[in-house]
Amino acid sequence: MLRPVAVSTLLTVLVSSAAVHGGFGHHEGHRVFYQDRFDENAAQKAAGVTVDPETQELVLEEGTGHPYVRTGIFLSVPARAARSFSAAFPSWRASVPPGTSVELAFRFAPEADGPWSRWQPVECEADMQLGGTYRYIQFRAFLTSDDGSHTPRIGAVSLHFGLGKSESEVEPGIEADLPRPELVTRAQWGARQARDPYTAHSPNRLVVHHSSSPNAAAYRGASTIRGIQNYHMDAPSHNWIDIGYHFLIGPDGMIFEGRPETVSGAHVIPNPNKIGICVIGNFEPPSEDQPSGVQYERLVDLLAHLAGKYGIAPAGIGGHRDYMSTDCPGQSLYGRLGEIRAEVGRRIESASSGR
Ligand SMILES: [Zn+2]
Repeated sequence: MLRPVAVSTLLTVLVSSAAVHGGFGHHEGHRVFYQDRFDENAAQKAAGVTVDPETQELVLEEGTGHPYVRTGIFLSVPARAARSFSAAFPSWRASVPPGTSVELAFRFAPEADGPWSRWQPVECEADMQLGGTYRYIQFRAFLTSDDGSHTPRIGAVSLHFGLGKSESEVEPGIEADLPRPELVTRAQWGARQARDPYTAHSPNRLVVHHSSSPNAAAYRGASTIRGIQNYHMDAPSHNWIDIGYHFLIGPDGMIFEGRPETVSGAHVIPNPNKIGICVIGNFEPPSEDQPSGVQYERLVDLLAHLAGKYGIAPAGIGGHRDYMSTDCPGQSLYGRLGEIRAEVGRRIESASSGR
């Protein structure tokens, strides 16, 4: 029997104190979610919009003589982040039929009563450097329909917060032609297509992650990679257009192709120009996972290939924690980045001197 669905969840704002990250469990120990269900506040905060009771998506109200009104605006209630932040990564799911549009804007404040920043229009998966430290967020959504015959839909808006650590300058490195290790292609692991177009970038940093969850023992080859992609694309806390990483390396040494390395990922803040490599395992003690021998070798092979290809100096190889407040990639892997940089430097030197 179909029961009427209560219109209780309008849009869910998920606020994470830690990192844009991957894996299923996603470093739960470092994340605090804030969820605002809006309820009856929604009626006061929205004009011309309503909620589809089945999908819980925001849509235009019914019109007179048309299926929908032409325009609507939704204003969220302010949400409080668990920690202060100075950078943000917004994402959401929307369907925008021809003749309709959706625009989202965010604003930020250090205290509940302000002062609020200006409204900042955002693109899905476009990193925001806020130029200040904030604790509160609010967003608004404009929905339009040219003739009222169709409505755009938007649901599950999420925002990941970062501290916006300033990045140290890294001198460009030497280009060198080092072989690309064998990859499991997207077709081979059964990847879904990206939901929306990617944004091109020019790699100048390599960022190493661990999956945390699943850990090494939970790894099941391609099905694990499909699971991570599903989580990144479908979890209300993510809504990303594709898997966040550019490469993933299993404990068996298999390297899986994620997003194309030529486009911006979703694995750190800010994302542009950084290639994200996820090593499957939980390398943060007290977990006893260590990168396996073959996994470590493939990681070095891949980093050396990418560093040579894009002329990235070994100093441009870092861990997620170099950019954000997170344990990632775990001390047991992070502690080896020094020896990895040295080995990458040796390989690039010998490849370039042999020319
Ligand atoms: Zn990470």
